[in-house]
Amino acid sequence: MNQNCPGQMKRLPSVDRVLQTDLGKVACERFGHAATVEAIRRALARIRDAGDDAHEPCDAAAIAREASAHLESEGRPSVRRVFNLTGTVLHTNLGRAVLPESAIAAAVDAMRFPVALEFDVEGGARGERDDHVRGLIRELTGAEDAAIVNNNAGAVLLVLNTFGAGKEAIVSRGELIEIGGAFRLPDIMTRAGARLVEVGTTNRTHLSDYEGAITADTGLILKAHTSNFVIQGFTKSVPTAELAALATLRGLPLIHDLGSGALVDLTRFGLAPEPTVREALAEGAGLVTFSGDKLLGGPQAGVIAGARALVERVAKNPLKRALRMDKIRLAALEAVLKLYRDPDRLAAHLPTARFFARTKAEIAAVGARLRDAVAAAVGEDYAVSLAECASQIGSGALPLETLASSGLAIRPRERKDAGRRLALLATALRRLPIPVVGRIADGALILDMRCMEDEPGFVAQLPALRSAAPPDFGDEAP
Ligand SMILES: *Cc1c(COP(=O)(O)O)cnc(C)c1O
Repeated sequence: MNQNCPGQMKRLPSVDRVLQTDLGKVACERFGHAATVEAIRRALARIRDAGDDAHEPCDAAAIAREASAHLESEGRPSVRRVFNLTGTVLHTNLGRAVLPESAIAAAVDAMRFPVALEFDVEGGARGERDDHVRGLIRELTGAEDAAIVNNNAGAVLLVLNTFGAGKEAIVSRGELIEIGGAFRLPDIMTRAGARLVEVGTTNRTHLSDYEGAITADTGLILKAHTSNFVIQGFTKSVPTAELAALATLRGLPLIHDLGSGALVDLTRFGLAPEPTVREALAEGAGLVTFSGDKLLGGPQAGVIAGARALVERVAKNPLKRALRMDKIRLAALEAVLKLYRDPDRLAAHLPTARFFARTKAEIAAVGARLRDAVAAAVGEDYAVSLAECASQIGSGALPLETLASSGLAIRPRERKDAGRRLALLATALRRLPIPVVGRIADGALILDMRCMEDEPGFVAQLPALRSAAPPDFGDEAP
């Protein structure tokens, strides 16, 4: 029986009284006594603070309900699964690459059991963790040797520190990049202990600029792949091969930060060509660095591949220990790299490749299958249509490249207040048990279906849309 509270502060139930309710007992069982008492205290305090104006039930059952709801929502994982319908395949804010089943199985095993991480099973002696992928990287890139660290930012930091600490590092002004998430090359350079020597101008850098900058203090020449922007027009940069010849002549390591680091020719998935790791090494870079979770489609990782003598120096740097990979991702990376041994079947097994390879017609078929369910869920106030759209690769890779795609465009039927209605719809979709993340463009909420694979899971939660929605979502009562 509910009892409304204004002016009746003294009649709030005791914590014990709430604990004795059915819901209170269940909460204790599930979340523990201490957490339940704390949640009840908070619910009581909230009602007390709301003062005499609060016209809401505050009997023991109502307090128990509020405390339980709180415990429930706190108990939900914070790193939650979402539906990525943004159209950006490698969305950094949504965790970049989705892993293939073989990598998931390998990672689960590495979590559940002891693994031969730094142990040579054959000889029973100590081994090295990077050995698990070193051979694969050599085979797939032509590198003599490789080292693995936490991510590519770590790889760049480690390489700069190894060859540039207390020395100068020469970089073209046109390549002084910032990657999302506060990765600025000049800042990393400073933290690595290297002095930045900028050569050339934003749009033009010549070989003679590099030549003129080399002194007895030079530790390395760095080439950074400007993966997230393009300068067009009157431009000149020095081909890697020419830079490599200069570096060799002067006895300096040439480091090429590739960023994405494609292992295969991406044109097979209909993407624009991007230099592969093998090509960058063949052009003469001493070392290349690249990410594991961008175009490679694996776990977060930073790969340093190239000449053996250089890799050995990197591996001996004490920072390597601070930046090392964990067993779980190492197991996953090994499984992903193995898929690259058979490039013809990559799209069948590697989700990132599969998403790139999906044709507009295949994606439109997904949208067509889901249209009616989405229309029923959003109600009469919104029109849902199948529309063409453009997906992006994401993570700064190939920024000008878009992939012809298809999705559901949801528009408020009424022009009035359309912006607010769209925002309400986006909020409602994000409040679903598995949040759905789309993007708003041209007065519509677009759900790009390129990365949609779990159609049953998507449809099953749609009926919850109206109860998940903010109070003023849609005009007619549900
Ligand atoms: C993405 C990127 C990085 C950083 O790599 P993370 O794996 O995100 O740490 C560094 N350099 C370039 C050129 C990049 O594109």
